Amino acid sequence: MAKKKVVENQPLLEYIENITHLPESIPQEGVEEITIAKKLLSLYSLQQICSQIDKIRVVRGELPNEVRDMEDALIGMQTRIEKHKEELEELKQKIGSQDMKMKEAAALIKRYEDQQNNVRNNREFESLSKEIDYQRLEIQVAEKHKTKFTADVAVKTEDIVVFEEKGNEIEEILNQKKSELADIIADTEKEEKELIEKSERLKKNVDLRLLNAFERIRNNARNGLAIVLIERDACGGCFSTIPPQRQLDIRLHKKIIVCEACGRIFIDKQLVESQNPSAS
Ligand SMILES: [Zn+2]
Repeated sequence: MAKKKVVENQPLLEYIENITHLPESIPQEGVEEITIAKKLLSLYSLQQICSQIDKIRVVRGELPNEVRDMEDALIGMQTRIEKHKEELEELKQKIGSQDMKMKEAAALIKRYEDQQNNVRNNREFESLSKEIDYQRLEIQVAEKHKTKFTADVAVKTEDIVVFEEKGNEIEEILNQKKSELADIIADTEKEEKELIEKSERLKKNVDLRLLNAFERIRNNARNGLAIVLIERDACGGCFSTIPPQRQLDIRLHKKIIVCEACGRIFIDKQLVESQNPSAS
């Protein structure tokens, strides 16, 4: 016998081993003996239905995420537009204050020029000329600033148009996804309900302890598989290699055999195919 690997779900493994090591069936009067093959087949049918339910839930689970991502993207775009609009307002105020500065400087120049007509000496005239030069310089600086702010306004305005177009695109796709999601939920809910009912009926045919083990393995397994086939000499659940002797035991289905690495229950392909020839 192969050396047992230490696995995370050791307690579960032991639990299942305990079940399988109990006397296979204690013949009781009036109670039909249920063979291991039958138990495995019931469990396998249940697995098929449960996997279909899982699949529906995965499909339905991803769509809301997509919708949420798009909603976030839309909010992000709206925030950028808001910020740009605020900056645009600030720029317009800055342009306004440059206009004001130029107006004030122009008024001062006019006043100084008037004063120059009434000066008493050259020194006063020169002093006013200096003031006038200074105010002209102020106007030049303000004009330079205004040109820059005006260019910034043009860029921001263009950006806003682009962002708004993008936002509209996102919104359109988002609405499409939302209605898709609503349709899928409506479609799958009916299918899921039927499958759940079917699985409940199947559960009644499964040995209670085996069913508990099945549920526990399924909850631990990421792919939701509790009973698996051997595929290419490996466990169909975790892909650990299965020794030939163990494969032989599985094919004999005299007792329930679980994967030593992952604890999943094995069922052999031939048994499945004997029940349902179309199954691959
Ligand atoms: Zn395994």
